[in-house]
Amino acid sequence: MTDPRALARAYLEQQQALGTDAVVLPQQQDIPPSGTPGLRPGLVKPPPPEPQLAPGVSPGSPSTGGSDTPMPPAGLIYDPPSGDLFTKDPIREAASLAAVAKLIASCEKCRLCETRAHTVPGEGPENARLVVVGEGPGRTEDETGRPFVGQAGDLLTKILAAIDLPRDQVYICNIVKCRPPENRTPQYDEVASCLPYLWRQIELVRPKVILAMGGTAAQSLLDAKSALGAMRNRVHRFRGIPVVVTYHPAALLRNPNWKKPTWDDVRFARRLLDA
Ligand code: URA
Repeated sequence: MTDPRALARAYLEQQQALGTDAVVLPQQQDIPPSGTPGLRPGLVKPPPPEPQLAPGVSPGSPSTGGSDTPMPPAGLIYDPPSGDLFTKDPIREAASLAAVAKLIASCEKCRLCETRAHTVPGEGPENARLVVVGEGPGRTEDETGRPFVGQAGDLLTKILAAIDLPRDQVYICNIVKCRPPENRTPQYDEVASCLPYLWRQIELVRPKVILAMGGTAAQSLLDAKSALGAMRNRVHRFRGIPVVVTYHPAALLRNPNWKKPTWDDVRFARRLLDA
């Protein structure tokens, strides 16, 4: 798409789909070079340096827009231990997402089981190409047993729609499967007890891309301590699967200025899906 009016229309439609009420112009490198002679020198940024692509990552299809924007460079690589040959672990042996959910339903590995109304294992198809990982259930999720169904969930559904992904084609889950009281950040030992469920879910779904939303999701999934800002704009790897890190939808509700960077991040996720 090179017609500037069509580009502007597509951009505004995407912003509307994301629920943005302010218009932030895309960065210069998002706009394909017009080749218009007579452009004043200095108006167009020099092209960014060649991206350092993670192994197996190639730029995405033009249909997702911004395909001439370089892919972010490779980031962290995390390969959690997968147990030993001699110990039988019911989580590792769970043969389906339903079997994992059943184990979660009776889980008492940490104190969060004492205050939960429902466990929230996650939902979506077993063959989903994208897995979205959030932090942990909030009040509505605890009441319903479903992930991302409150206000933040509505925004997530819009974000996914903006990259042409109906929510029901995505596997959506969290780092912890029970609501932390008062929605506090899950503590280190709670995350540690719960992570093996997520690892098994990812193993069963075998997605092409993982989208980690928020600092807790990104740090827990990649076993890192870096700040969210430092983890964005990288193609990390979890057991070889590309991981894109972006803001949590609840944070976007508090700070709409993060919608534009989130849009950039989810477009990268889309390009990785299409690659
Ligand atoms: N926030 C999350 O991280 N997960 C949910 O399921 C809902 C809100």
